[in-house]
Amino acid sequence: MEIKEAQLEIASYQIIPLATGVFGLDGGAMFGTVPKILWEKHIPADSQNRIPMEARALLLKGKGANKTKNILIDCGNGKDFVEKFGDKLGKKFAQMYNIDPNGPSLLNSLKHAGLGVDDVTDVIFTHLHFDHCGGGTIWKDNRIQPQFPNATYYVQKENLQTAQNPNIREKASYLSPNFLPLLDSGVLKILEGPTDELLPGITVGISNGHTKGQQWVQISDAKNTLIYCADVIPTSAHVRSAWIMGYDLDPLKIIEEKTAMLSQAAQHGWYLFFEHDPKVDACKVIKNGNDFAVSDAFKLLA
Ligand SMILES: [Zn+2]
Repeated sequence: MEIKEAQLEIASYQIIPLATGVFGLDGGAMFGTVPKILWEKHIPADSQNRIPMEARALLLKGKGANKTKNILIDCGNGKDFVEKFGDKLGKKFAQMYNIDPNGPSLLNSLKHAGLGVDDVTDVIFTHLHFDHCGGGTIWKDNRIQPQFPNATYYVQKENLQTAQNPNIREKASYLSPNFLPLLDSGVLKILEGPTDELLPGITVGISNGHTKGQQWVQISDAKNTLIYCADVIPTSAHVRSAWIMGYDLDPLKIIEEKTAMLSQAAQHGWYLFFEHDPKVDACKVIKNGNDFAVSDAFKLLA
């Protein structure tokens, strides 16, 4: 698939993908019931059957009317896991998920975009699985603190409740050091359901198929719409309706939610932004019989 380079500005925000580092997840788990012979053509696996996944955050760097805003959507795994989770869990964790502490980081990518931690005004967490929110906190002065001292953080109430009382299936993904310190320091704003204009030009919608209370993020103006799909559609290979993750809690629900998102995207020419695709930042889709296919794949330049 040819990947085109593009620059995007929507609703007075420059759309800037932020690499936070590649990690490895079991390929089988990422594609559920899809046979390996099919999915490995899209993303080949290593000797331990892990496939490389980006944990791609999105920076909406405000311009013009929104020039005071620098909004982050998700934060990746975080790189200070040894300090945050203790030597034992931290090291085990990094090894299990093949997290390279020397790879790209959220802060380096942010710096590359001309910003420091003080400049971030808002952080929208799609959900509190560790690979989405780990970079939102940091170990500093012997305690865990918000990584972005001037930011308001957002999460859905249902997702926070799920994270605080995780079911046995998701226990390993909801790690309290990633979110309790934010709650305790009063910077976490709790949303209840879909929210229009959460911030200028930015709306959040709800998906419950992957986990309870995940929010996807829509950035729109009169000309363009981009959806930060998060784990509703993690990579461009997951654009097919039935290609869902083994991690999804409710397979039929995620298929229904994803199909609704893809139908709208195909109909209106929306950009879909992928958090976990190792190569493609965003794509446009078309209807393909009863299914969907990628029509254009993009690397978005700052
Ligand atoms: Zn997730």
